[in-house]
Amino acid sequence: MRKITDRIFCLQSESGALTYYIDDKVKVLIDAGTLINKHVDLIILTHCHFDHIMYLHELKQRYGCKVLCHANEREAVETLSEKTLSWLSPKKILPCNIDATLKDGDRLSTGKFMLEIIEVPGHTDGSIAIFEPKQKILFSGDTWFGNNSVGRADLPSGNQEELLRSVGRLKKLSWQNHICRVKDKHRILAFSCRVFCHESQKCS
Ligand SMILES: [Zn+2]
Repeated sequence: MRKITDRIFCLQSESGALTYYIDDKVKVLIDAGTLINKHVDLIILTHCHFDHIMYLHELKQRYGCKVLCHANEREAVETLSEKTLSWLSPKKILPCNIDATLKDGDRLSTGKFMLEIIEVPGHTDGSIAIFEPKQKILFSGDTWFGNNSVGRADLPSGNQEELLRSVGRLKKLSWQNHICRVKDKHRILAFSCRVFCHESQKCS
């Protein structure tokens, strides 16, 4: 478990996807690509692909945590449909019930952090990104890997046009937040926005 910044840790899984742990009052895992030996209250899934849900069932059993995702990913996770690409997984994945769904604009407080949900369809139709505006931290899932590197749109429920629109939205949203904070330092602040993506090789 590697510390990224105050209270936020990165965990790498055998599939290469990254899972993030927020060690705050409410303990949150963003995606479930690996097991963790610290308590988890809540798991937020950025999308339903196998490398992001590989240990979801085990984590929920171990910690009794709630699992949240976008409504469009719910059935896939609960039934392990084709959309999850589960046959590519190096381990057997078990289906898992979703406790509640998330939509654009939802906000979840962990104590120190406020997590804002942004719908970013394109990689899958129910992909979400998670933004923390005060810390300028973006968990971008497989939608955007920073700069001009974007996720795949050729998998089940993917859509290239939507993906590019979603990436555009993420870039704009970060920028707007920076402008709100310090008027004359757009550029510096834009670069200081930390994008925590979910594919280790492309992380920026
Ligand atoms: Zn994916």
